[in-house]
Parts: sequence; C-alpha cells; structure tokens
Amino acid sequence: MKYTVLTLFPEIIDAYFATSIMAKAVNREIVAYRPVNIRDFALDKHKTCDDAPYGGGAGMLMLAEPLGRALESVGARNRLEPENGARRFSGRVIYLSPGGRPFTQDAAKELAREDELILLCGRYEGIDQRIIDAYVDEEISIGDYVLSSGEVAALALIDATYRLVDRVIKQESLEEESFSGGLLEYPQYTRPELYGTLRVPELLLSGHHENIRRWRLRKRVEKTLALRPDLICRGKELDLFDGETRKLIEELGGEKDERDTGHRSLPDEG
Ligand code: SAM
Repeated sequence: MKYTVLTLFPEIIDAYFATSIMAKAVNREIVAYRPVNIRDFALDKHKTCDDAPYGGGAGMLMLAEPLGRALESVGARNRLEPENGARRFSGRVIYLSPGGRPFTQDAAKELAREDELILLCGRYEGIDQRIIDAYVDEEISIGDYVLSSGEVAALALIDATYRLVDRVIKQESLEEESFSGGLLEYPQYTRPELYGTLRVPELLLSGHHENIRRWRLRKRVEKTLALRPDLICRGKELDLFDGETRKLIEELGGEKDERDTGHRSLPDEG
C-alpha cells in the first residue's frame, strides 16, 4: 500500500510514518509514503495557496491551481479534460471532508485493498469545489464534527487502513477486535492479578481454552448490547452472527431496543 499525502504541513504526517509499527512497515517495504507539499506548487513567489471565497463569507479557501498541479504531479488527471491523458496510478484520490462518506471499519477494510491512496488534506474553509469535481474519486469524513485540518483525518484513515494490510500485524490480532463479526471486543487484563482491590476474572487464569473462548464471546455480546446496541441490530440484518452468538444475544438482550445507540453501563464483572 502506498499513501501519497497532499498537505500544506507534511511535517505532521512525516512524524507518524517515522514512528512505531508504521516505521517498521515502511522499513519492510509493506507500506510506502510519499509526502507532497502543496505549497511547492503555488504559482507566485509568496507561495500563496489560499484566497477569499467568491460570494463572500468568512475565512479563506485553498486555491484550485496549486492543488491541481500537485495532483497532476502524482499521476492524478482532470477527468473533465480527458484529452490531457489518463491517470498514472492505480488507486483512489480521496478528499478528507466533513461532508464525505462516514469512515467505518468496513470502509477501512475496503480501502486497505487499494494499491495507492492519494489523500488530499484541506485547511481553512476547505478547497475550491472544482478540484473535487475534476480530480477527487471520493470524499471521506471521519465523523460528524469539524476539524481545523485534513491532516488529522488523513492520519486516522491511514492508521485504520495500514494495519489491515497483509503482514503488518498478525491476522489473529485482528480477528476478535471491536467490529469484527459485528461485535465489540471482550474486556482484557494483564499483570498484576490484583490491582488495588480489583482482581482478574478467575476463569482467565484457569488455562481452560474452551471456557475462556465462551466467556469472551459472552462478554463481547454483553458489551455490545450495553454500549452499541445498534451494532447488534446491524449484525442481525446482515446475518453476521453464528448460532452460538444469536443464542447469547437472545439470552442477554431481553426486550432491549437495539436501534437505540445510547450508551449504558456494563453489567458488573463476574
Ligand atoms: N468549511 C468546511 C465545512 O463546513 O464543511 C470545514 C473546513 S475544515 C475547518 C478544514 C479541513 O479540515 C477540511 O477541508 C477537511 O479537509 C478537514 N476536515 C474537517 N473536518 C473533517 C472531518 N470530520 N472528516 C474529514 N476531514 C475533515
């Protein structure tokens, strides 16, 4: 997977690619990173990349010309001017935007299968619409709130996708994570066995693998019903649950309205 990030502040992204598991994935050449400083494509000697919006209104907008030139430099093409040739990369051009498709674990899985993602980070009040019309394949939002910059959103998208790329982390680490199979993850514990007055559940110390598996599945169902009943509803609709899980949902769920996304407290540990 190759991430090409178009930004006015590459240093924000550089730091992430130089750290921890991502740095290892880059060293092992499983992931590649190409930062592109949009300012390098400005047309004037002051390297101007923003201007006031036509029609008035607060704030500034990112200029079309530097953005278009930066996109062309990495192989994107203006789809409204096909005579200028075909794109020279295989993947998607994504503009991080509060108005985009909501980013979920399913979206992360889908994007992790691409060869390359070209991520366009906005600033100020956003970007000139013509860049979206001409170059962007998809707008993606990381949530219903407004950030001051696309870099934070691009990092969230990168972080959630690269770990799903083959060989970055062990497949088994992904299997029972939150959202896999339509459930949240079970609670986990490490040393010491006694933390203040809080003890690790006895069963986890038993070494009985089948009992531990059943306990974990039960906890996943309990936790999902309590914190994200909407996921249970979705899982039922998409037929994500096996017989054992369905039975547990019935046993633990009672008459709960699973469409309700309101959080509740978890049942006491036992
Ligand atoms: N004026 C824009 C609006 O109301 O939709 C908001 C612009 S925001 C201050 C600046 C940049 O942050 C955007 O161009 C976008 O790249 C990024 N951004 C803000 N919120 C985001 C979100 N929820 N998801 C993805 N990107 C976001």
